[in-house]
Amino acid sequence: MSIAQNIERITAQLPQGVKLVAVSKFHPIERLQEAYAAGQRIFGENRAQELAAKAPQMPSDVEWHFIGHLQKNKARMIMPWASTIQSIDSTELLQLVNKEAARIDRHVNVLLQLHVAKEQTKSGFTVEEVLKAASEGAFSNLSNVTITGMMAMATFTSDMEQVASEFEQVHDTFVKLRDNYFAGDERFKEISMGMSNDWPIAVQHGATLVRIGTDIFGQREY
Ligand SMILES: *Cc1c(COP(=O)(O)O)cnc(C)c1O
Repeated sequence: MSIAQNIERITAQLPQGVKLVAVSKFHPIERLQEAYAAGQRIFGENRAQELAAKAPQMPSDVEWHFIGHLQKNKARMIMPWASTIQSIDSTELLQLVNKEAARIDRHVNVLLQLHVAKEQTKSGFTVEEVLKAASEGAFSNLSNVTITGMMAMATFTSDMEQVASEFEQVHDTFVKLRDNYFAGDERFKEISMGMSNDWPIAVQHGATLVRIGTDIFGQREY
């Protein structure tokens, strides 16, 4: 299957309103151009250097999403390009991103990353941490950042009940935050979850953004 066929197959299965983020990390620019030619506009990268290197080579209507762990000293590098940073995993990073965006007079959307997976290596706020931060006002009064929702990764497992329960937990937390801290703010509406191996389950549990790499571009060569 070609990249174009893969994109067509996946988007045909996505309910209305669910957007596809093509995760292009480790793939050369020609593959991204192929996806672009097939109509794909949202691309996700997880390393700052790679995003900053690829972005200037692609048309300006591409929407770049940063989806990896963002080291504080790399925020500046992606700020001219990223329209959404999906992986805000601490209030310190959120403050820094706001400051860096203000520095170059940009505005950036962000998602709060929730840690629901079993693997300790995955980052993000725990449910308790994100609710506590919200109650302390950490998500208000940001001049150059809009919090548009939440992002999460499920445990890498073939136990799809486990995965479903983690997605359910993300959805519940999203609803709690929305109703208690973003009431009336219609910009807080995205749930980014689901990858090549679990996106249909994520969609069943309310994902509005799915992040798919392998299923579009094939295996990555590291
Ligand atoms: C790599 C990656 C994806 C895509 O993974 P695939 O299994 O290739 O679809 C999605 N989200 C994040 C955060 C990633 O790092």
